[in-house]
Amino acid sequence: MIARPNEPMALHTTWHLGGAADWFLQPETVGQWFDWCRDHPVEGPLLVIGRGSNILVRDGGVAGTVLSTKQWKGLTVQADGRVRAEAGVAVASLSRAALDKGLTGIEFLVGIPGSVGGAIRMNAGAHGGEIGPLVTEVVTCDRHGKRKVWRGDEIQWRYRHSSIPEDQIVVEVALELRPGEGGAIRSKMAAIIERRNATQPLHRLNAGSVFRNPDGDYAARLIEAAGLKGAKVGGAQVDPMHANFITHEGDASAADVERLIAMVQEQVHARFGVTLVREVQIVGRPA
Ligand SMILES: Cc1cc2nc3c(=O)[nH]c(=O)nc-3n(C[C@H](O)[C@H](O)[C@H](O)COP(=O)(O)OP(=O)(O)OC[C@H]3O[C@@H](n4cnc5c(N)ncnc54)[C@H](O)[C@@H]3O)c2cc1C
Repeated sequence: MIARPNEPMALHTTWHLGGAADWFLQPETVGQWFDWCRDHPVEGPLLVIGRGSNILVRDGGVAGTVLSTKQWKGLTVQADGRVRAEAGVAVASLSRAALDKGLTGIEFLVGIPGSVGGAIRMNAGAHGGEIGPLVTEVVTCDRHGKRKVWRGDEIQWRYRHSSIPEDQIVVEVALELRPGEGGAIRSKMAAIIERRNATQPLHRLNAGSVFRNPDGDYAARLIEAAGLKGAKVGGAQVDPMHANFITHEGDASAADVERLIAMVQEQVHARFGVTLVREVQIVGRPA
């Protein structure tokens, strides 16, 4: 179990940004987390993170405790389509494990660099698919280790949002997939990877799409049409390849990214009257 003070959050986010968390916990197993909750109840604010691929942590770090699920890697995939995955499993690994068993339905997860817990919280999706409708059960717990089991159909799954309450930590998930044809599944995944490599700036530090797509339109199209592709604040840039990504090369602060987000929102609103809603979560305290 890692339990240490003043952990730089830049080590735990795909933007490589963010000041230190007052306390950082990374239990090796789910069982270890339940034991810890019983013996050392977490006081004060608690932030759960998976792979940090959808969060901007401010430069002043995080007050209270950050819990990382990264080591919770239990995964069983049965040939009949039943899958159980702990929250820290990378969704891309889940997608590949399904391929190994000839199961279809989650090919779209292959290029998403998040964890199962983050994907459930965000109802991650791509290429017309979303994880929510495939979920049969979610096991959560609160900060005291009190477990709760949710049926998949008890949870409301909306675009990049699930109704799981904020105080619940996703611990484990059950999914139901369908048997498919290995060659077709493999080709679909390869096509997704190829498309992402061609359209996303994966060589620069990023957190995926910054804004949700507004109804009937694309955030990237609006940002580009507002003339903002390539716009910069400090080291942060509206990516020249994909306008809904904000990227940097190690020279930005979280404040640069946050200011650029606000600038994009203001200018797109001024130009088109559309309010871009953030997909990326902003957490922590300013420097
Ligand atoms: C290159 C790139 C491409 C991407 N493409 C896509 C895409 O196509 N589709 C898509 O939907 N997303 C995409 N994303 C965004 C991101 O990968 C997903 O939202 C992912 O599901 C987030 O998982 P995470 O583990 O990184 O979550 P984090 O960023 O660690 O956390 C995100 C949110 O989930 C909460 N959370 C995390 N784990 C738990 C848990 N166990 N219990 C409760 N709450 C939790 C956090 O508190 C936070 O609010 C992309 C990101 C990148 C960098």
